[in-house]
Amino acid sequence: MNSQLRREYLDALGLKTWTLRTAHGTADAPSLVMASRATSAAPAPSAPASALAAAVPAPARDVSAMREAGLDWDELRARVAACTRCSLSATRTQTVFGVGNPHADWLIVGEAPGAEEDRRGEPFVGRAGQLLNSMLHAIGLAREQVYIANVLKCRPPGNRDPNLTEAAECLPYLERQIALLKPKIMLAVGRIAAQNLLRTDKTLGALRQQVHRFGLSDVPLVVTYHPAYLLRTPTEKRKAWDDLKFARDVASRV
Ligand code: SF4
Repeated sequence: MNSQLRREYLDALGLKTWTLRTAHGTADAPSLVMASRATSAAPAPSAPASALAAAVPAPARDVSAMREAGLDWDELRARVAACTRCSLSATRTQTVFGVGNPHADWLIVGEAPGAEEDRRGEPFVGRAGQLLNSMLHAIGLAREQVYIANVLKCRPPGNRDPNLTEAAECLPYLERQIALLKPKIMLAVGRIAAQNLLRTDKTLGALRQQVHRFGLSDVPLVVTYHPAYLLRTPTEKRKAWDDLKFARDVASRV
């Protein structure tokens, strides 16, 4: 991507001042990752994803994760489409499986589908999706180069936070997607996604700028803000930019 085009993408993000600098003060290329839904923005009390570990004993989680073992992409997609494991199956328009390159190095994971995603069957569409695309472009990645999924495959009514049962029932699908994808890095986008993936109740601020590891696959995982939150709180874009650079550096070392 030429510098003019990248500058245009950064301008679209309102990131004119977001310029990576080397020790010599010269511009450098940025880096990044992402995950799904129009998340609840600011740290509001959420489904204590953290409590997932306590609510679902480890042996039960292991058994649950094995339910999808051996499924290929098509089989997994069909199983998700027919899923009735939690009550969200009664209110969804359709499941939102995930989208992107099945050989991607980057896996972006959000919380759950919002209204537009539920209607279209694709994660990260609408304004938040456009911002995500711009962020990806800013670091030289096209949407088609990454894989984008959510912790939940069905929309919680009213965009409420996922509850513990929903997250516990749905996470095995994402775990199977990760097993098939074998990404080099995961980017958890937003507090709810991060807390569910890492089984913690720590704040997003406490989880940023660290390399976490996801599950048995031990994939490096970096946490950042959800683009929907950044749309509402543009003053946090600089922190998100720092997270993207951090994630890119992590991926370059894998
Ligand atoms: S949210 Fe997940 S577990 Fe619940 S019905 Fe949808 S696909 Fe199944």
